[in-house]
Amino acid sequence: MGMNEARKPGRWWLVLSFVYWSSATVALLLFWDLFPKQARAAEQDSAAFRTLAGKHLELVTDLPPAAETDELPAVFDAAVPLWAAYFGLPREQWQSFRPRAFLIKDAKRFRQAGLMPDDLPPFPTGFQRNGRIWLYEQPAAYYQRHLLLHEGVHAFCEQLLGHSGPPWYAEGIAEFLALHRWVDGKLQIGINPLAPEEVPFWGRIKLIRQAQQSGQLLSLADVMRFGPDAHRQVEPYAWSWAAVFFFENHPDYRDTFGFSRQLLAQGAEDFSAQLRQRYGSNWEQVELNWFVFVRELEFGYDVARAALRFEPPRAQEEKTPVVTLRADQGWLVTSIPIEKGETVRLTAEGRYQLAERPAIWWCEPPGVTLHYYRGKPLGVLLAAIVPDDRPTTMTDPIQVGRRLEWAPGQTGRLCLKINDSPALLADNAGTIRVRVEKSPGAISPKDRGMHP
Ligand SMILES: [Zn+2]
Repeated sequence: MGMNEARKPGRWWLVLSFVYWSSATVALLLFWDLFPKQARAAEQDSAAFRTLAGKHLELVTDLPPAAETDELPAVFDAAVPLWAAYFGLPREQWQSFRPRAFLIKDAKRFRQAGLMPDDLPPFPTGFQRNGRIWLYEQPAAYYQRHLLLHEGVHAFCEQLLGHSGPPWYAEGIAEFLALHRWVDGKLQIGINPLAPEEVPFWGRIKLIRQAQQSGQLLSLADVMRFGPDAHRQVEPYAWSWAAVFFFENHPDYRDTFGFSRQLLAQGAEDFSAQLRQRYGSNWEQVELNWFVFVRELEFGYDVARAALRFEPPRAQEEKTPVVTLRADQGWLVTSIPIEKGETVRLTAEGRYQLAERPAIWWCEPPGVTLHYYRGKPLGVLLAAIVPDDRPTTMTDPIQVGRRLEWAPGQTGRLCLKINDSPALLADNAGTIRVRVEKSPGAISPKDRGMHP
C-alpha cells in the first residue's frame, strides 16, 4: 500500500464497501444459480443408481440393466441357505440376514452420494464391513458373482457367527463357498472347477502352478501362519482356498475338518493350533498329502482318488517284496525302506486301463510314448522317495517303465504311481505289480539307466 492512498481512508472505505456488496451480490446470484443445479445433480445421481432387491440382498448399482447384473440378488438368495447348511445354522438365525451391496462402475459417483465412506481402505476388487459390501464391476459375469459371494460369506460369518477365524480360514472359506456353478437358476457351491473356462478371472490354480514351477510350494503350516495383511497380495487367496478345498475333499481329513466350524462358532483364539491338534499324530501324513496335492494340482483334481495310500507295515522284511499298485489311485507310499547308498532294482508287470472312452485304452508299465503328461509318457510307472529327514515332502518322480536300476541317494520310503493326471483317475482300472530288489553299493555301469 502507498503513502498517497494511506492519507485518504475515506475513499478506501468506499472501495471496500463496494467490493463487499458486489461480492455479496455475486455470491447471492451464484447461490441462486447453483442451488437448483445441485438439486438437479442429486436427482440425476439417484436416477443413476438402481436398487435391486432380493430376499437376502439389497444391491445398489450404477450399472445399466443387464441379465448378469440383475440376477445377482437371485444368486445371493440361492447361496444363503447353502451357507447356512454348511455352518449348521437353524433358519431363524439367518432368515433376516440381508446385507447391502454396492456394485460400482464409477466410484466417484458413489463417494459423492455418501455411499463409500472416506475411511474405506483401498481395495482392488471387493470389500466387506459390518454387513456392507463394495464391489467393482468385473470383466466376467462369473467373477462378478464370485466376488459378491466371497464378500457375502464374510458378512455371513461376521454377522451370524460372530467370527471369521484366522486369515487363512476367513479367506479360504470365503473362496471355497464362493466358487460356484450357476446353471438355469440353480446354484452349486464349493465346486471342483474342471477347466479355467468354467471360472474366468478366478486364477487361483494358475498361481499355485506358478509356485510349483518356481519351487515355492507352501506347507499347510505356512498357510496357517498368514498374518492379517497377507491377503493384500493375491497369492495368499490361492493358498487359502487350496487348504480349505483340500481338507473338504480328502476322504481321511474331511470329518476332522468339521471341527473348524466349532472353533469358528467359539471364536477360538488358537483356532489353527487346535485344528492341527485334532489330527494328532497324523499331522505329518496330512502335510505329506498336502505337499503332493499342491505339487500336482490341476483343474478337476480328484482329491479322493489321488489321496496317498500308505501301505501297512510288512510282517517281516522280505528279500524281494512285491507291491500291487492300482491304476485308479494316486501315490502308494510303500512300507519298503530304502537306505542311502543302496541300489534298488524295480521290475514291473501288468496291463491296466487309462481311459474307458471312446474305447478302452490299455497300457503297460513303459506307458504310452505318443502321449505325455508332465513331461513323461502317459501311464508309465513312476517312483519317488519320502525322505526320513523330510517326511512331509516327496522327491521328484523318476520314470521306471518296465525295469529300472536306481540309486535314490536318500534314506526313506519308496513311493510308486502310474503317470496320469490326478483329474482323470476315475476311468482307470487294473493293477500293476512291482518287484523290488535291493542291493548294497553302486549300480553296475551296464545296468545304469532305464530299461523300457
Ligand atoms: Zn475376503
